[in-house]
Order: sequence, then structure tokens, then C-alpha cells
Amino acid sequence: PDLAGRPLPLYATVSALPCRGGEEIVRRLFEPLDYRVSVEDPESDRPENDWERGIYRNLLVEGRKSLADLLVHLYVLIPVLDDDKHYWVGDDEVEKLLQRGTGWLARHPERELIARRYLKHRRSLTREALSRLCDGDDPDPEESGHEHSGDEAAPKLPARLNDIRMETVTRVLKDAGTMRVLDLGCGEGRLLRELRRIDQFKEIVGLDTSTRALEIAARRLKLAHLPPRQKERIRLLHGALTYRDDRLAGYDAAAVVEVIEHLDPARLAAFERVLFEFARPRTVVVTTPNREYNVNYPTLPDGAFRHKDHRFEWTRAEFEEWARRVASSRGYEVVFEPVGEVDPEHGAPTQMGVFRRCE
Ligand code: SAH
Repeated sequence: PDLAGRPLPLYATVSALPCRGGEEIVRRLFEPLDYRVSVEDPESDRPENDWERGIYRNLLVEGRKSLADLLVHLYVLIPVLDDDKHYWVGDDEVEKLLQRGTGWLARHPERELIARRYLKHRRSLTREALSRLCDGDDPDPEESGHEHSGDEAAPKLPARLNDIRMETVTRVLKDAGTMRVLDLGCGEGRLLRELRRIDQFKEIVGLDTSTRALEIAARRLKLAHLPPRQKERIRLLHGALTYRDDRLAGYDAAAVVEVIEHLDPARLAAFERVLFEFARPRTVVVTTPNREYNVNYPTLPDGAFRHKDHRFEWTRAEFEEWARRVASSRGYEVVFEPVGEVDPEHGAPTQMGVFRRCE
């Protein structure tokens, strides 16, 4: 039985497969997965039916693969070649694609084409699938090097910065004894997903200005299908951090992960009041990029920000100065912790300030 898990020299033939885009598409789909490909025009016994015959090909793919990998590749790529699913494509198709695509789709150069065709050209689903494949962000210098590096045999990649950030923030919130927690600027719900796994968090609320992000978060968290008790535990709110919002009062802690750099500098003062004066949780965790670290991203031009929507990126001194001023004027104490691998000269990619309210 262990042969089934091992790479073997395998081949598969698929006869009379509708291949929209012809041989070129077949190659673009299979060759990056290290298959040798051959494509033939099938003999047609009904040559008069030319328009139909035109899209059919006989396909042979060969490679050293485990049987499971070969089957999974065919399972995903046959409907992509056909490009004509006959049934309704809904949210669960995104789940299927991501599940079947584990370990290979994220770094396939044609992942966009694959997602688009697999999801029957439904734009919102395709966008969701692609964003989840890259774990939510735009192509981001923080992630490069992970997407395109190596094959299955490559040594295990270091954990992605996003994951480290979520784990770190979750740990800090947990250690602070938090039970009721806000995720402000929750985006597509990556932190919410982590928080939900931990029973200590009895009430979890995400807030964002983007309804689009909230829709994705709701889908990722499967909010519509939760049992009633879980439904009470986790909620999403539409709102802006720059306007006083009484719904945010009375929580133990707030996380503001990679959000402040999206605020206009002129609106930072409003944000400070909303969070530290009105909501006023006992613990506040703020993370933001450390600009000094950007020299370590070879694809990032000098002076550019990591994301097109960033309004600023601070050095460690700038962040610490801002955070110390906020803390001392609002009755908090703040400590700092680097997040991600620390470069001895330029610090960590992410900087974190943990504020505790002085009693
Ligand atoms: N915390 C999430 C998302 C970070 S991206 C994560 O780490 O994955 C920044 C998020 O802040 C976006 O979802 C954006 O919609 C949100 N945002 C920007 N300005 C905001 C504001 N004024 N109020 C609330 N959310 C805001």
C-alpha cells in the first residue's frame, strides 16, 4: 500500500477530451507540473462535423508522480480544459478547488486561468479563490520567494510572515487574559479564523470598512452555516475606525493588524480617539510594517511601499514615537516586539506595539 504514496513513473491517456485553446493550453497547464505531454487530433469518423471536432484532442501525460497527485491534477485540469461545466458553480466549488489545489496550485504560473475556468468565469469566486491562494494579499513583496520557489521536494519553506503575525497577535491576546476581542480592520478574516480556534475567546468581533472584505470573511468563516452558539460568538461589523462607534465599547482587547498604514495621516488623530478614548479596551495590539526592513525585498523599488494602498510606512523610531505619545496621552503603557525574522541591522519585517491600559 505505501507504493500509492510514492512517486512512480505513471502515464494517463484521456481520449476525445474537449480542449478549448488546443495544444498550447494543454502544455501551459501540465508542463509546469513536470509532465511530458503529447496531444493528438483524434481521427474523426464524422469529418463533416468539423466545428465540433475542432476542440477534441487525445491527451497523454507522463511523469513521476504519486497516483494521488496524478488523479488530483486530472480532476482539476480536465474541467479547466473543457471550460464548460454543466452544473451550477457556487461557493463550494472554491473550497473544492483550494482543497484539491493544495501544494501545487498557488505556485502554478497559470493559476489565474485555472481558477477562472474552473469557477466558470464567475469573477467574484475567482477573485476569492486567488486571494485565498495567496492567503489574502495582493502580490506582495513580503510573500515573494514563497510563491515561486522550487518543487514539492524543496526543503520546507519558512513560515510565511502573515502566519507568524497572526500567531503572534493571537498569543499576545491570549496571554493578556482576553475573553472579548475586537479585530479592527479585520479584512478577509485571517486573524478571526485563528482566534476562533481558541475557546478562551468568548466573543469575537471583526470590523472593516470594506463590505467586499467582510463578505469574503463571512464566507471563509462559513458564518451562514454555524450552529447557533458559534454564531453568537463571532460577528462582523461594517464600520470605520475614524468615527466614534459605540458598538466598540466594553471589550477586553483590540487587535489592529496591518491597518494604520492604510489610514490617511490626517485621520490618525481621529483613529486614536476612537480606539484609545472611546472604545478603550484594556489591551491594544497594533502591528505595522517596519520600513527599514524593505531593503530586504529585492523586488521592491527603493522608497516604494509594500502595498499600493499604504499611505505611509514607518521606521522603528517613527512607530515607537507615535505609540509612546499615544500611550502617555491616553493613559496606557506600551511595549514593542519584533514580528518575523529579525535582520540585525534593519529589524523585523513587522513591528508590534502592545498597549496596556493603566488602571
Ligand atoms: N487585519 C487584516 C487586514 C489588513 S489590510 C489582516 O492582517 O489580514 C487593511 C484593512 O484595513 C483592509 O481590510 C481595509 O479595508 C481596512 N481599513 C482601511 N481603512 C479602514 C478604516 N478607516 N476603518 C476600518 N477598516 C479600515
